[in-house]
Amino acid sequence: MKKNIAVIGSGFSSLAASCYLAQAGNKVTIYEKNQTIGGRARQFKKDGFTFDMGPTWYWMPDVFERFFQDFGKAPSDFYELEKLNPAYRVYFGADDYITIEDTLEKICAAFENEESGSSIKLRKFMDQALDNYNIAIKDLVYRPGVSPLELVTATTMKKIGQFFSTISKDVRREFTNPKLISILEFPVLFLGAKPSNTPAFYSFMNYADFGLGTFHPKKGMYSVIDGIKTLAEELGVTIKTNQNVEKISVENGKASALIVNGEKINVDVILSGADYHHTETLLDKNYRQYSETYWEHKTFAPSALLFYVGFDKKIENVDHHTLFFDVDFQKHSQEIYDSPRWPEEPLFYASFPSKTDSSVSPLGKEAGIFLIPLAPGLDDIPEIREEYFEKIMVRFEKITNQEIKKYVIFKESYCIKDFVDDYNSYKGNAYGLANTLMQTAFLRPKLKSGKVKNLFFTGQLTVPGPGVPPALISGKLVAGLIEKEKKN
Ligand SMILES: Cc1cc2nc3c(=O)[nH]c(=O)nc-3n(C[C@H](O)[C@H](O)[C@H](O)COP(=O)(O)OP(=O)(O)OC[C@H]3O[C@@H](n4cnc5c(N)ncnc54)[C@H](O)[C@@H]3O)c2cc1C
Repeated sequence: MKKNIAVIGSGFSSLAASCYLAQAGNKVTIYEKNQTIGGRARQFKKDGFTFDMGPTWYWMPDVFERFFQDFGKAPSDFYELEKLNPAYRVYFGADDYITIEDTLEKICAAFENEESGSSIKLRKFMDQALDNYNIAIKDLVYRPGVSPLELVTATTMKKIGQFFSTISKDVRREFTNPKLISILEFPVLFLGAKPSNTPAFYSFMNYADFGLGTFHPKKGMYSVIDGIKTLAEELGVTIKTNQNVEKISVENGKASALIVNGEKINVDVILSGADYHHTETLLDKNYRQYSETYWEHKTFAPSALLFYVGFDKKIENVDHHTLFFDVDFQKHSQEIYDSPRWPEEPLFYASFPSKTDSSVSPLGKEAGIFLIPLAPGLDDIPEIREEYFEKIMVRFEKITNQEIKKYVIFKESYCIKDFVDDYNSYKGNAYGLANTLMQTAFLRPKLKSGKVKNLFFTGQLTVPGPGVPPALISGKLVAGLIEKEKKN
């Protein structure tokens, strides 16, 4: 039966869900509050420079392939993908760095260079990471988090110990070199929690990193949003921007209408890809499933202070992705998770997409994106942003041995307040609810409301978790639940 479905938001999860729902024959309309689509993956353009405002790492290409395959398509029908070599560079001090190249063979050689015998341990670690990848990303993450039994399979039972150990413990059991430890702990940061609070089973992220590699879609990650938009429109989805959803109306226990820019729109089913906490505030209190105390006690993924910078020269001694791990990560992570405050000496990440993609900056110039992870909910004022820009410029210049600040043509900052204003993000989180053990699968906020019939949720605060590949999967899962519900 064809249903009239309203989708709130146009992030990766909403777009993906809309494609599946339209394919199943429904009338689907997306209501996005912002002027442009893409949510946290929006694009910012200025003076010939193009910046991805959110995601820059294209990992797990198989998940994107699987998504497009569901519609008889391939990523190459919509965008051009390049495997980056090197994938990235990690600085540990001035002129002290490790380059991660595009094959496990070359990465083993880099490890060996750092610590004799480490490549043998790495191969063993990667065998397990591959095994976990096959279990998690090819199967478990495609389960909707409805029941704990979804996690009980013959293969997961063999891995049970890994759910109760942590990435940090497993890595440290095998490796002693602090640089190699930092590199192996880096991938799980995408899941939003400290490596010491992330189950060892999540080493599948290491396979995504070293086993599958890092890709770059030509013209940036936004070309993936553009591709899915094209697909959605081909399938008949209507996308409306500048549409602020102000309220979800419930009649006889069923979601019945949206109030959008003051106008009532009657619908059969409502699916929200906006932040879960925000969506529930659109409901009268008695229809909300999770209290403020519930959200207060959750481990959120970090927020971030970002700078999008146009440089009047090519920057030396950096790669497309460069990590600055030259300070104490333990201290910075305590300042994110344990005693939230602005970090004294932050780790940061810099991306120069124009190193490999000439379409994103004018000739001879460089587009730079800088990201400092932060605790959500901190005071965010212009003076503090400026202070941190100075801090990282000084470190960057010293470590990479060049002047860059005087070549800044413009810089735009983006931080906690913007995440709240633009996306209704809870406390300004950048990438949702972290994947800790107690926030995995059926323990995450549910895709389907338990209190309001015909109301569903998708995105990085629900199942399976933060990141672009999980957002695509979340869209597929929720569309499956909506279709199942229709049959009941
Ligand atoms: C700085 C940053 C860097 C990241 N880096 C990476 C990376 O390198 N690789 C990776 O895989 N992932 C990365 N991520 C994570 C990834 O971008 C997100 O997990 C994913 O894009 C989230 O998609 P979503 O659909 O869940 O939510 P969103 O993208 O947040 O979409 C929600 C949408 O709902 C809209 N909305 C909210 N309220 C309303 C309302 N009332 N009415 C109408 N619309 C509303 C918002 O405007 C938004 O468009 C990064 C995220 C950030 C912020």
